[in-house]
Amino acid sequence: MFSDLFPTYRGELKYHCLECARKYPGDELHYTCPECSGVFMLWDENFHELKKLSGKEWRTVFDERAASKMTQLQGIFRFYELTAPVVEKEDIVYLGEGNTPVIQSSPKLQKLVGQNMAFKNDGQNPSASFKDRGMACAFSYLKQLVRKKNWDQVLTICASTGDTSASAALYAAYVGDPIKSVVLLPQGKVTSQQLSQPLGSGAVVIELPGVFDDCMRVVEYLADNFRVALLNSKNPWRILGQESYAFELAQWCCWDMSGRVVFVPIGNAGNITAVMSGFLKLRDLEIIDGLPRIFGVQSTHADPVYRYYRQTPGSRSYAPVDVSPSVAQAAMIGNPVSFPRVRELADRYQREQGTDAFNVVHVEEQQIIEAMLLANQNGHIACTQGGECLAGLMQAREQGLLDASETAILDATAHALKFSGFQEMYFKNSFPRGYEIIPREEYINQPQRVLSEEDKERLSKEEFTRAAVEEMVRVLGLQGN
Ligand SMILES: *Cc1c(COP(=O)(O)O)cnc(C)c1O
Ligand SMILES: [Zn+2]
Repeated sequence: MFSDLFPTYRGELKYHCLECARKYPGDELHYTCPECSGVFMLWDENFHELKKLSGKEWRTVFDERAASKMTQLQGIFRFYELTAPVVEKEDIVYLGEGNTPVIQSSPKLQKLVGQNMAFKNDGQNPSASFKDRGMACAFSYLKQLVRKKNWDQVLTICASTGDTSASAALYAAYVGDPIKSVVLLPQGKVTSQQLSQPLGSGAVVIELPGVFDDCMRVVEYLADNFRVALLNSKNPWRILGQESYAFELAQWCCWDMSGRVVFVPIGNAGNITAVMSGFLKLRDLEIIDGLPRIFGVQSTHADPVYRYYRQTPGSRSYAPVDVSPSVAQAAMIGNPVSFPRVRELADRYQREQGTDAFNVVHVEEQQIIEAMLLANQNGHIACTQGGECLAGLMQAREQGLLDASETAILDATAHALKFSGFQEMYFKNSFPRGYEIIPREEYINQPQRVLSEEDKERLSKEEFTRAAVEEMVRVLGLQGN
């Protein structure tokens, strides 16, 4: 169980259906309940055994393990006992995921926003998004299944708003035979950077007209009727891996979550599920004293979870929405698969820590892109969904939902570079109407041309240098020394 050895504890993971409460053994692949089609959570039947160690002892285990050099425990499996304690050492797939930094915002940005704040940079994962946390877990489990069951061919499949496919393709390429990756993308609804990732990893890439929700229905049908392994977050092994975000954040905060408020963008709602589930586990084992508050953030162009929670408790009803174009494209989902998980965990969360411990806000497209630009003009590397978190923070502040003494931690779920196309649309004022974004001068940044191709032809090297210097002196208003 201790730090420099591979953990000896083994759990008994079972799929729990959130609709009908049936359980299924964790040594088979399931995505939805065979009886009622409900979604699953994986729960460890032996979890109570972990209570034999005190919260303090667990903190020591994880702190010592953070210094361990064992490759298999460097990433999400630092928190092995809380993650997927059925995976053997030899099956763990580690590509450098997890362990991402929490970067405190500059004094200037914090002052401007009026809140202590930091971003946790999940764009610093190997495929540049948090999806790697879940994939590392799903692929480790799958690798073990393949070994134990002697499968000779496994086709992994996922629908994606871009990052799931990038991640799945990367891990599949690393593990190799007999695993082969297929990804299904909504045509024109992923960025060119995201599209280049599964192509570069050698996955089979299939494009379909429509939006993510259309692709999701197709892969669900395939998973129900053919021999394929589904890698969307419907697959509860992904959720387990993504819980590491909460574990790492708590460890980064020296296990003291009081006065912390965590902002998470909601798309298919797997991420916010995992974050809540992770903190609840830490609380159960008394590794943390109290839960941090959580804010889910959605765009007004894709906000079914917000619409659910704005209704009066007790008489809420859930309905999918039709999405409109969103710069938070990775979260542009009208019918989140994990909604039942959110409902379950938000209930537990609020019972444990009070109703203000879980909140959902929604923000406009204009606010999302400008919050991203603001963050990055102050030294962050946030993607549009990270911008969505900052826009959510500003919204929550405006509504008086935050106390000045609280510290916000925002999930920059992917690297800014994946979404540079949206930044370019802003700078060039080329957003199609549906986005409802009108660029403002103060945020626009464009390259400034000095000299022409013709000047380059005409002038000698020395003349060209001098002319360029003169131009720069003019443009920058430089004074001689
Ligand atoms: C997938 C994704 C999201 C949405 O996460 P869900 O788990 O689907 O709610 C947000 N941001 C980025 C960058 C993503 O890739
Ligand atoms: Zn069921």
